[in-house]
Formats: sequence, structure tokens, C-alpha cells
Amino acid sequence: MTITKNKVALIHYTLKDESGEVLDSSEGREPLAFIQGIGNIIEGLEEKLEGKTVGDRIETTISPEKAYGLRSEENVHIVPLSSFQADGDEKLVEGMQVRVETNEGVSLADVAKIDGEEVTLDLNHPLAGETLHFTVEVVDVRDASKEELEHGHAHGPGGHHHH
Ligand code: ZN
Repeated sequence: MTITKNKVALIHYTLKDESGEVLDSSEGREPLAFIQGIGNIIEGLEEKLEGKTVGDRIETTISPEKAYGLRSEENVHIVPLSSFQADGDEKLVEGMQVRVETNEGVSLADVAKIDGEEVTLDLNHPLAGETLHFTVEVVDVRDASKEELEHGHAHGPGGHHHH
């Protein structure tokens, strides 16, 4: 069986950035299970895995446009420091992550800079703008169950899952 739309694929993967640093890996864990073709994983990886089968190994480089997108200055906002002070007593420091209300609901933002009364928040995905290198091994390909397709994600062995 090959990886095509609506099949469940299980992969082991290692993700590195352009400098070769490992950002994420399934090594020592269960393989990653996903449904192909519905955006469970980044677009560039779906394209490279289409038609692959158990035992196939690929090494691939994926541009930001097919991964987590480009960084956008529209996702960088300057807000007054005073807007955080109602939030309890945890001190705001550069580099920490905070939850913010956006038009699309609650989102995580990076505190990029604190300059006097001005706080710069960065809502870009941490991997936005990054070219990603993946090493992937396909360990299983199977049909998705009706339930998995309804839920829009793969379930673990034995059908258990968490939401
Ligand atoms: Zn489910």
C-alpha cells in the first residue's frame, strides 16, 4: 500500500534546521501517525511522501512556503506594558511566551522585546521563515477508519486516542 490521500501513514522522522541542529525527532518515541492529504502535517512533507511505501526512506529540504510560512511583520505587535499588569504577579521578561487574544482566538506570542512601556509581541510560528530538513522512514501505511476520517486525525494502536 502506498501513501495517498486519506491513508494513515506512520513515520519516524528527524527534523533539522539549516545549520544542522536537530529541532525534533521521533527517535525513542512512537512513530508519528497522520492522515495523508488533509493537512495533518506540513504541505511540503505531504508532497514528498505521496506514493511512498513501507521501508522507504527520504531525505528532503522544504522551503518555508511549504512548511510553516514566511515570517510576517503583520504578526508583530507593539502593546503597552500596562496591558499585562492585570495578569497576576509573574514578571514579563524578553523571550517568554504569553497567551494573547487575537481575532482568531487565543494564541501564543513571543515576548520579543521590552522597551520601557512598550512590549513587542511576535505571533509568528516559531518555525516561520525556516527552511527545514527532514529525514523520514515510512514504517506503516494503512487505511484510515471511518472514525479517524471523521475526526480528521489518526488514532493510536488499539483505537485509543486523546483530544
Ligand atoms: Zn479522534
